[in-house]
This record gives sequence, C-alpha cells and structure tokens, in this order.
Amino acid sequence: MYEDMERVLIAEDEIARRVRELGAEISRDYAGKELLVVGILKGAVIFMADLVRCLNIPVRLDFMAVSSYGASSESSGVVRILKDLEQNIEGLDVLIVEDIVDTGLTLNYLRENLLTRGPASLKICTLLDKPSRRKVNVQVDYNGFVIPDEFVVGYGLDYDGRYRHLRDILILKRQVYCGKEQ
Ligand code: 5GP
Repeated sequence: MYEDMERVLIAEDEIARRVRELGAEISRDYAGKELLVVGILKGAVIFMADLVRCLNIPVRLDFMAVSSYGASSESSGVVRILKDLEQNIEGLDVLIVEDIVDTGLTLNYLRENLLTRGPASLKICTLLDKPSRRKVNVQVDYNGFVIPDEFVVGYGLDYDGRYRHLRDILILKRQVYCGKEQ
C-alpha cells in the first residue's frame, strides 16, 4: 500500500496535536452552548471522531453525504445531497466538519443549503485547506493545516474508496490516479 505513496505530508502525532488545539479553540468559542456537529461523509469521519472527543461542551452529532469525486481526483463542480440530516437545525448552533476544502464548491453549496434552514449560527471546520485550487470563496472558521496542491489520502481521505484507514496524511503518487484518468 505504501508503494502507492510519494511521502508522508502530515504525520499522525502532528495531526493529533492540531486536533487537540482545534478542540480547545472550538470549546472556548461555544462555551455555555450546545453544538450540533455535522460530519460530511465519508471523508470527515475519522477527523470528526477525534475532534468531538476533544470538545468539553455538550455536543450532538449528525451526518450528511454529498456527491464527490468518485474514482477521479478532479471535482465535477456538481454537488448533490446523497444523505440529508436527520434533524431540523432551526435555532441550533451548527458546525460543519469537512475533510478538505479544495475548489470550495462543496462547502459553498452546503453552507448556502444549511443557511436556508435557519440555524442560530453556522460555522465550518476543515482539517485541510488547499487554497491554490479555490474556485469560490468560502469562509472557513477553523482549519487544521494549509497544504500545497497535491492529492492526499489517509486519516479519512480516500482515492477510489481506498486508504481512509491510514493514520498519517500522505501524498498519493501521481501515476496512481493519472494512470486511471487517461
Ligand atoms: P471541493 O468541492 O472543495 O473542490 O472539494 C471537496 C471534496 O473534494 C473533499 O470533501 C474531498 O472529498 C475531495 N478532495 C479534494 N482534494 C482532495 C485530496 O487531495 N484528496 C482527497 N482524498 N480528496 C480530495
């Protein structure tokens, strides 16, 4: 499996340290409130599981799934809800937790969509930010790491459904995904 990887970009212990910092910051900002954490399936699952265990405020969890890249490494730009929230978010403090903001299309869509449902507040937390590829401006309130324009996997992020379980964030060799698109 590691023969598909160029190198480790962010190691497990560095991720854990940063997730603890984010948890402390979010706990401070929402002190005295209850937070609904909305994880975006499937990429954010591992990040979300670690993050919510670093929060010391009351928390509830819900999930959404949106259409993503499939077996490609390029966003189609079309966002579709595959699984919606189970609860009404009107009047709630909501935090979207996403694995990565790349073009910004996914989070921009989610933000607009959830805002129409009348939450008391809506913020966004992403593990990774690839600013060089942004197509639409989206305000990210909490971010773990800014990364260069490389396709990364591990710690929840996949390529064609694989590598999500890897503990580090790794750069996937170009030939693994370029080979498939040609
Ligand atoms: P955006 O809509 O911002 O272009 O893309 C967001 C989604 O694209 C993420 O939720 C993720 O599924 C996928 N994505 C973007 N960049 C990467 C990457 O480097 N690695 C992986 N595995 N997925 C990515």
